[in-house]
Amino acid sequence: MFSVDPEIGDLPRGDVLIDGDKIAAVGVDLPVGDARVVDATNRIVMPGLIDTHRHLWQAALRQIAADWTLGQYIDHMLLDLGTRFTPEDVYVADLLGAIEALDSGITTIMDWSHIMRSPDHADEAVRGLRESGIRAVFGYGNPLPPPAEWYTSDVQRVASRHFSSRNDLLTFAIASNGPEFGPFEDTVTDLKLARELGVRTSMHVGVGLLGEKRAVTELDRQGLLGPDLIYIHANTCTDDEYRRIADSGGHVSISPRIEMQMGHGYPATGRLCAAGIQPSLSIDIVSGVGGSLFAEMRGTLEAERGWQNHRALSEGRSLSELSITARDVVRMATIEGARTLGLADKVGSLTPGKQADIILLDIDLPNVSLVNNLPAVVTLADNQNVDTVYVAGAPVKAAGRILSHDMRRVRRLAVESRDRLLRNWSGPGYVDSLARQVSI
Ligand SMILES: [Zn+2]
Repeated sequence: MFSVDPEIGDLPRGDVLIDGDKIAAVGVDLPVGDARVVDATNRIVMPGLIDTHRHLWQAALRQIAADWTLGQYIDHMLLDLGTRFTPEDVYVADLLGAIEALDSGITTIMDWSHIMRSPDHADEAVRGLRESGIRAVFGYGNPLPPPAEWYTSDVQRVASRHFSSRNDLLTFAIASNGPEFGPFEDTVTDLKLARELGVRTSMHVGVGLLGEKRAVTELDRQGLLGPDLIYIHANTCTDDEYRRIADSGGHVSISPRIEMQMGHGYPATGRLCAAGIQPSLSIDIVSGVGGSLFAEMRGTLEAERGWQNHRALSEGRSLSELSITARDVVRMATIEGARTLGLADKVGSLTPGKQADIILLDIDLPNVSLVNNLPAVVTLADNQNVDTVYVAGAPVKAAGRILSHDMRRVRRLAVESRDRLLRNWSGPGYVDSLARQVSI
């Protein structure tokens, strides 16, 4: 058992008692009473993974951006394909994308939903999330500046209509374009709105050359930083900006694989840790990289180790030990994700009193059998090892199969949506002849 709770630690053999939606106890040889027993022999029992930034609306466009730069992504996805999305397409993508996440052991996700082309788009995104059964922070966002005239009132409408209960699986946030992707005054409006609603604001900063706008520095000058802010990527922020984020209690979500692909800048993992900021991990776009947070853990480790080794060798020395470990990235994909999203009192570790968001990894499969290093096994696992998934005590995956969803219906809806979105589309990345033969 890999609890991610420092008081409990790793247990070679252990029990988790679930009572309703909560973890009632964690330990060895707990009294069973009249509880139903789930045999987890040859399974790693651990908290569900947490993805702190994913644009779920792109789920039906998987792989299309696999060879794109950031400039191509902005031109083809945000300025072109994004304009084709109907509310139905957003519903399908949120449902499909959230099921994809659950299937890969992610029990909490922040849906960075900057596809609000109408109020109906927001309602349909929430419907898809709710139907999936995942725990999610729904980030309401503008596709592109300027915001529609109904933007502010619709944020308030959606917050009160869909997110009135704090005990819900779904909670609310603002996905702001931020000063690098829109006028500064729009960010000020977003922060004011979020703070009136008492929710977090997430924004992309330090993205490639846009980082030269020094968004964090300017926000700090205007007294706007705070612990309710989630900064995404932060590759080309300065160390001084990291200090400002750390001093204000802010949170950072990094997506090293997409950052290395698209030119956001070198992943900031080590620089953030040195500044006292423990980042959380995110996939960003399944249209660019796959949806596996296990792969993101590996990518994060490899990028940081590669950077440190390269720097040492270029200075004529070699490292005597590695400063970032497998355990560090598992923590980033669990408890640090919970902290980023303001949910650390609810999820992120197997701790009595927290929600029963639990996954069981099958370690009896050829890719990970023979366990010699528990955290490393988690980073080297993948979706096929995700045997069982519970969200709030309810099983959503068991024996390797998604429960409670008619996957034939979801696939049919996804194919229809994909075909609608890509009809007569001539941009790069879509291998049309193949896509017509191979359904999702
Ligand atoms: Zn993003």
